[in-house]
Amino acid sequence: MDYDVIIIGAGPGGIFSAYEIAHKRPDLKVAVFEAGHALEQRKCPIDGENIKSCISCKTCSIMSGFGGAGAFSDGKYNITNDFGGTLHEYIGKKHALELMHYVDEINLRYGGEGTKLYSTAGTSLKKECIRHDLHLLDASVRHLGTDINYVVLQNLYLDLKDKVQFYFDTPVESLRVIEGGYEIRCSESTCTCRSCIVSVGRSGSKWMEGVCKALDIPTRSNRVDIGVRVELPSEVFAHLTDELYESKIVYRTEKYGDKVRTFCMNPKGVVVNENTNGIITVNGHSYEDPAKHTSNTNFALLVAKHFSEPFKDSNGYGESIARLSNMLGGGVIVQRFGDLIRGRRSTQSRIEEAFLTPTLNATPGDLSLVLPKRILDGIIEMIYALDKVAPGTANDDTLLYGVEVKFYNMEVEVDEKLQSRYEGLYLIGDGSGITHSLSHASASGVHVAHHIIETM
Ligand SMILES: Cc1cc2nc3c(=O)[nH]c(=O)nc-3n(C[C@H](O)[C@H](O)[C@H](O)COP(=O)(O)OP(=O)(O)OC[C@H]3O[C@@H](n4cnc5c(N)ncnc54)[C@H](O)[C@@H]3O)c2cc1C
Repeated sequence: MDYDVIIIGAGPGGIFSAYEIAHKRPDLKVAVFEAGHALEQRKCPIDGENIKSCISCKTCSIMSGFGGAGAFSDGKYNITNDFGGTLHEYIGKKHALELMHYVDEINLRYGGEGTKLYSTAGTSLKKECIRHDLHLLDASVRHLGTDINYVVLQNLYLDLKDKVQFYFDTPVESLRVIEGGYEIRCSESTCTCRSCIVSVGRSGSKWMEGVCKALDIPTRSNRVDIGVRVELPSEVFAHLTDELYESKIVYRTEKYGDKVRTFCMNPKGVVVNENTNGIITVNGHSYEDPAKHTSNTNFALLVAKHFSEPFKDSNGYGESIARLSNMLGGGVIVQRFGDLIRGRRSTQSRIEEAFLTPTLNATPGDLSLVLPKRILDGIIEMIYALDKVAPGTANDDTLLYGVEVKFYNMEVEVDEKLQSRYEGLYLIGDGSGITHSLSHASASGVHVAHHIIETM
């Protein structure tokens, strides 16, 4: 065999499995194959001047490369079993939390020291929320920020580069079971290994589907989350964000009984475009460095939809809605809340006259022409509910950007070691459909590394 272990994908899942094996079993020969670039070469060509929109690079520097989809993220490591994935269903709640804390310690050692760990433990805000039928989920969150998150990745790479063989710009085309291990094929070469960890994230979802089909690994459809990104003056949520940084609040709508939740809160942050397979959706992040703070806070409001029979393609449904917003707005649409409830579109002049300055240059329009009524009604109801704990949320000038879509990979069948029906073939991170976050993906990497360390 060329290697003891081959890891496919250098996102958090792949990096932390490589880290753990390299440090605990330096005798094992490990290689990481990554479709995207090395960290310092990752650069999205959109500069807002010469290149204003996506030019569909061969590999997307936002989603691919060392650090994976999380490299330019807000670097929020949520330490919780309440959201971010279902890892605890496989490895147990206690162990999942232990691994997330372990990852946190590594992040602190590699550049994250000094960053703040926020927690919902003992907060009076929970009581305040529940009085208005809003449910604040329990979590501790380490906010590295986009800037420190990058530093941690740089330091992890410097540590690993002499211990692990990295192959960048090398997408794995196929994966085959051979006697005593696995063979991976790239465009110009093949390599063999005793164990293989597949951690290809969201961007590798189509590839992963192909692998599961070829190896007859059972899968089941997952949900899709659809909604908008809300932007408002940072003062409105300051009492929540100062204490908790991010608050995950869930509300059940009176009208349909659907659950709407807040997601990815970015105090004093910026709203950004996100490109998923050529479809432009919206996201947000914020910096740890106060010099880069804005006067706005943003967060997503999402409604989960899961289709199973006869229509199974939850992601396809989400994609169609996002495509519709791209068709009408040429990208992301922005609308003032006041315009939405008055049933009129926002225009450039209405946005300019408002008291709030948008942090993303999106097309003023009408989200009611894009989002299904049930989803939009739920979002409006949630905004009024949030207004009771954060007065000012339902202000006319509150901005809604659409659409925000969170796609999830289909869930693969693995055991409690995250091992597929083939011994030594592990499927982890967001690519497995089991995790949807930095902390869960990283923890899944450490978990499989431990199994390899013990058994090899
Ligand atoms: C803009 C943005 C902001 C985010 N912010 C947060 C946040 O603040 N907190 C949070 O918890 N989560 C956040 N997330 C989600 C988080 O980034 C992911 O949950 C996490 O990165 C998943 O890790 P992973 O290792 O499973 O997959 P990924 O990070 O997606 O990494 C997979 C890697 O595999 C590579 N790959 C794919 N196919 C192949 C192939 N065939 N051969 C070789 N390599 C391949 C890809 O290029 C990629 O680099 C954010 C995501 C985005 C896009």
